[in-house]
Amino acid sequence: MEVLGIDIGGSGIKGAIVETETGALVQERFRIETPQPATPDAMVETIARIAEHFEWRGKPIGSGFPGVVMSGEIRTAANLDKDWIGKNAETLIAEATGASLVHVLNDADAAGLAEVRLGAGRDVKGVVLMVTLGTGIGTGLYVDGILVPNTELGHIEVNGHPDAEQWAADSAREREDLKWSAWAGRVNTYLNKMHALFWPDLIIIGGGVSKKSEKFFQHLIVPTTVVAAALLNDAGIVGAALAAAS
Ligand code: BGC
Repeated sequence: MEVLGIDIGGSGIKGAIVETETGALVQERFRIETPQPATPDAMVETIARIAEHFEWRGKPIGSGFPGVVMSGEIRTAANLDKDWIGKNAETLIAEATGASLVHVLNDADAAGLAEVRLGAGRDVKGVVLMVTLGTGIGTGLYVDGILVPNTELGHIEVNGHPDAEQWAADSAREREDLKWSAWAGRVNTYLNKMHALFWPDLIIIGGGVSKKSEKFFQHLIVPTTVVAAALLNDAGIVGAALAAAS
């Protein structure tokens, strides 16, 4: 079936129509900057503009959200306006777009779903950890293809830094104007901590930087396999669509 997949991020909101059998994008994706302040009203309006761009009414939408999501309700919003907390994103998006069904899940959980079903984690048994590096650090933990939702491992303490994402997300590289090698050292420390705590069989790196793996993967020395997302930065859009279809 065809589902409009949306990936809500701290810097951009992206959408594409996804064929959920294959994960293929039916049309080129469409991106709008995340409004600032990133309030529910402004963001839901942006999502409605994306749906209009694809003339998507009365049809299903799946969306990833950069925070904890429980039954559609937003419980945390580290890099967005805190007015999101307690709001039901599924209800708000359905009202604004006239969609037939809206399913919202954590953005890294969505990206992990796409990779486990169709990408780098396909047919991998055991523990697969999706790590997205963007405005924040997102994690999606899959065990034999089953999700442990809302793991929020981007916020652990690492190397004396109380919130890992403030130190090692891609936004930290940009904010501090770090060389790729210096930033990769931080990511390496973070991934080794993930390894020591979860012993994943596979770690998949997603987010915008997954397209630039040649700039930093050579600095990652982790005692397990680490690969870039096969769907690159589209994993979040595709995974959100898959989640809405199942
Ligand atoms: C949020 C996570 C999200 C990640 C990536 C973190 O700040 O707490 O829920 O998955 O950013 O967007």
